[in-house]
Amino acid sequence: MYKTIVIGTGPSGLTAAIYLARANLKPLVIEGVEPGGQLTTTTEVENFPGFPDGIMGPELMDNMRKQAERFGAEFKSGWVEEVDFSKRPFTVKVEGSGILEAEAVIISTGASARYLGIPGEQENIGRGVSTCATCDGFFFRGKKIAVVGGGDSAMEEASFLTRFATTVTVVHRRDELRASKIMQDRAKENEKVHWALNRKPVAIATDENGIVKGLTVLNNETNQEELIEADGVFIAIGHTPNTKFLGGQVKTDEHGYIVVKPGTTQTNVPGVFACGDVQDTRYRQAITAAGSGCMAAMDCEKYLEGDMTHDWSESLNPSV
Ligand code: NAP
Repeated sequence: MYKTIVIGTGPSGLTAAIYLARANLKPLVIEGVEPGGQLTTTTEVENFPGFPDGIMGPELMDNMRKQAERFGAEFKSGWVEEVDFSKRPFTVKVEGSGILEAEAVIISTGASARYLGIPGEQENIGRGVSTCATCDGFFFRGKKIAVVGGGDSAMEEASFLTRFATTVTVVHRRDELRASKIMQDRAKENEKVHWALNRKPVAIATDENGIVKGLTVLNNETNQEELIEADGVFIAIGHTPNTKFLGGQVKTDEHGYIVVKPGTTQTNVPGVFACGDVQDTRYRQAITAAGSGCMAAMDCEKYLEGDMTHDWSESLNPSV
């Protein structure tokens, strides 16, 4: 049996592993299909403190992993198929490794960007299709961009991308935006932002050489297809937290994000903690994820010392 199992190896999980290992709590860290998390799909990370010249995302994650290993964290690869938090010790069933037991579990499985599921999308990721303006906007300096979505993320990405692009066209499937008024106003005030509302994305359009040339949309008013010309198409239709494997055993909000006691990383199950994007709908930064990983390890340590009361779960409010 393990003292602690950390599920997920983004900045939150690896930071938790570093702290747990240094506290001699011998964590087992489970790496899923995307070891290192979302940062491994980015290029240069310029806003992680301590790297004045920036650092490549995969290198940063590799460094964090080595740091955890140096203090004794053990790693296993495999998809977590299911967990059982109804009894002690907890069990975590990992593809290829069977059923593992632990006294405490930290969930740091992150969130994945949602995709449209249209032709041309998956094969052009990193080649004209992106879900991360802060990661990839730079590559579209002096070019045309389309941003898909009508929520705050789309508004934020559209405004941000005007730093690089000549024009940014926001494509939204309805004629009414979902975004908050302040975010809408900010985008609307920006002359570089153009609007293609009431248009449903149909396909990523490419030229005869397979280079992305825009987004084919269906105009809901005319029922005709149109091409929105763009060198880069940014999909900003939200994220899905990776919580399905929990089978409803940990309290989540209506979008599937784990609910933690405010100011802590405690879930409604005593001994189960959550950190990083899987519980964060607001900040979603590598540095905030790492910070919450540290918190989870410290909360976990206190729990294992028996130094924590858990009678708060009844008052847990998912809207907080
Ligand atoms: P969101 O609010 O869920 O908005 C997603 C948008 O994508 C919606 O406009 C939706 O259209 C559209 N969409 C979803 N599936 C689609 C599909 N298959 N085809 C076409 N369009 C599709 O997600 P979000 O913008 O990522 O925001 C998530 C949360 O983070 C929100 O609570 C938001 O306030 C918050 N956030 C805050 C800030 C900030 O304050 N700075 C920045 C970013 C995000 P419909 O409107 O038709 O459903």
